[in-house]
This record gives sequence, structure tokens and C-alpha cells, in this order.
Amino acid sequence: MNGFEHDLGERLRVLRDNGLLRELRRIESAQGRTIRFNGRSLLNFSSNDYLGLATHPALLEAAARAMRDFGVGSGASRLVCGSLNPHHDLEEAIAAFKGAQAALTFSSGYSTAVGTICALLEKDDVIIIDKLVHACCVDAARQSGARLRVFGHNDLSDLEDTLQWALDHHASSRILIVTESVFSMDGDTAPLREIVELKDRFGAWLMLDEAHATGVLGHNGRGLADELGVAGRVEVQMGTLGKAFGSAGGYVCGSRTLVDFLLNKARSFIFSTAPTIPQVAAAAAGVGVCASGEGGLLRTSLQARIRELATSATATGVQGEAPKPAILPVIIGDEARTMEAASALRDQGLFIPAIRFPTVARGRARLRVTLTANHTADDVTALNSALADLSATP
Ligand SMILES: *Cc1c(COP(=O)(O)O)cnc(C)c1O
Repeated sequence: MNGFEHDLGERLRVLRDNGLLRELRRIESAQGRTIRFNGRSLLNFSSNDYLGLATHPALLEAAARAMRDFGVGSGASRLVCGSLNPHHDLEEAIAAFKGAQAALTFSSGYSTAVGTICALLEKDDVIIIDKLVHACCVDAARQSGARLRVFGHNDLSDLEDTLQWALDHHASSRILIVTESVFSMDGDTAPLREIVELKDRFGAWLMLDEAHATGVLGHNGRGLADELGVAGRVEVQMGTLGKAFGSAGGYVCGSRTLVDFLLNKARSFIFSTAPTIPQVAAAAAGVGVCASGEGGLLRTSLQARIRELATSATATGVQGEAPKPAILPVIIGDEARTMEAASALRDQGLFIPAIRFPTVARGRARLRVTLTANHTADDVTALNSALADLSATP
């Protein structure tokens, strides 16, 4: 035979030997506070469904109603004949929710980042990304062909030096800074006000990925830019529809000009079938719940759980009164030990993902706890005591 099977098998073996092999775990239930795995019900601390909307009746009903009227598939790309009412309704809902002139939706957050960054930048431009931005922004930055510079995580003086370098050497280029509101594996937030000041001072543009802040932080869950009062000063805001909004897909919002530009230039938007009808209808309903009084109650209960978890000595990074992100890493370091910890927690009925290289740096493996509005105080008590046991065992 040819070398195909052998080559791939060898590369898999290297991953396995290094404790880095990934495997799918088949979940036998809907997404929720508990999930069924291997015939057992486990408390789920791994979902990004922060408000519990993935199974919310309003989203199910909206998806079903839209499917009755518009079918499942969109039939074509948006620019051919796939731009149906539900897509436009969703974009209007997102723009209104975010207080932006316009929004554009993509099939995923990943394709949103790739399409947007590659459209905005050309070969001689400069892109400056935080060291810990999500893989989709890293991949996009590389694909764009622009000059790529990385600044230390949330390191404002490194960012300033990099902006100065860009200005000194590439004064006529576009300069785009990309960062995240809430970092997906660390759960910390960007110093956004200071970054906005810097980018204005240097004449750079800012793209902000609000994936984990949307629905959680800011007025009505609008995100960190809203919470810090700088939403109107960020050129490009993006997010996903697959986390707090309970569905799937991604969005960009900003000025009408930005959206007109992207629908002409973003290749992942142009050359891809429009998102499915149930997906966009459910997402629009998710935006609606998020911005409603019910959304406010869900955020209140989510914040209560975050505070309860923060009392545990094992979780890091939660202080003060302001709303906090729902991601709490428990850093263990060693890859194999982290996998063992996750497995031991599963035996105790708690589902918490182990996160390893290349998602995080080598030797920085961790349990990544996420909380949702559906968790109860008792759930967090159980989690806290399991984590305390874990840190007590050498
Ligand atoms: C999840 C995530 C994305 C990707 O969004 P998908 O809709 O899942 O493709 C992008 N950026 C960040 C920070 C994320 O956490």
C-alpha cells in the first residue's frame, strides 16, 4: 500500500506518546446543566451555553416556526439567492442589540474572524495580536499575508512599543490590533479602555472578539466594550452565536460601511452557503432572550454561581463586585496529570474539560470550568469540594 495510513498512524502515535491525543466523547443527551455520558448523568461544567439558551423553548419555537416558513437549508450563498428574511432579521436584531449601525452574520465565529481579517488587510499592512487570542484570529492573521506581530498578553507597554515600531517602519500601512474581551482559556479580560486610547493615539484600528463576553458582561449582556463605555470607539466587533446566544454562527458589527465592505470582500461570507434557517432564527430568539428581563435574571443567577465558585481557593482570578466572566481555569500544568484529574472528576460525576497544548502553552494544562445560569448553588458546592479534594492530593 502507499504510505498514507502508516504516515498518519505514526503522527498519531507521537501525539499519544506526548499525552496530546484528542478523542471525541459522545454525549447522549442535549446540552445542559447535566449531560449523559457513558450511560451516566454528569454535572456539566464545560459548556459555553452561558445562559442555558441552547434548549430554551423560545429558541426551539423560533427555529421550528422559521423552518415551517423557510425550510432548513438556505439553498445558496447570501449573495446568490440565500439571503432570506431570517438572515436579515437576525442581522437587524444583532445591530440593535449591540447599538451598531449594521451587522453581518457568518456560518461560524471561526469563519467570521478569517473572512473579516483577510478582507480588511492587504499584504503590506500590519496586524498586531494579543499572544492569547483565539486560534481563529491567529489563523486569520497568518492567512491575511499582512505583517504579523504578537504582543504579550494584555501587556500595554509591549503593545505600545509594537505600535511605535509599526509607525516608524510602515507609516503608510493599515494597522489592525486584534484582541478578545474575555480570553477563552484564562477567563481574564482585556484592558480595553487603555487599548482603545493607544489605538487612537497611533491611528490604528481595533477588532474585538466578544465571544465569551456577549450575553455575560455589559448592559443587557452587550459585552465588555459596552461595560467599559468604549463600544462606539471599536472599529470592528465580532462574536459568536454559538455561546450565550445558544445557537451557532458568528457575527461582525460596526458601521454600515464596514458591513458593505465585508459583504463585498470577505471570502468566507461570499463563497459559502448561507447559514441554515433554524440556526439563524434560533440565534435571533437568543438575542431577544438575552436582552429581555429574563436575560437579566439569568445573568444574575450566573453571577451568583461565579461568586460562589470564587470562594474556592483553587479557582483563580475572581475579585470585586463587577460582573465576571464565566470561565475559571484551574491550572495544573502537566498534561498527563491534568487528564488524570479530569478523569477522576468524571468518576465523581463532574464533567470538566482538560485543556492542553496546542490550545494552551505546553506545561500550562488546566481544567477549564465554565458556569451557566442553569447551575444551582448546590452544583457549585459539589464542584468546590471536588476541586478542593483534587488540590489536597499530591
Ligand atoms: C468559540 C470562539 C470563536 C469561534 O466561534 P465559533 O462560532 O465556535 O466558530 C472565536 N473566538 C473566540 C474567542 C471563541 O472563544
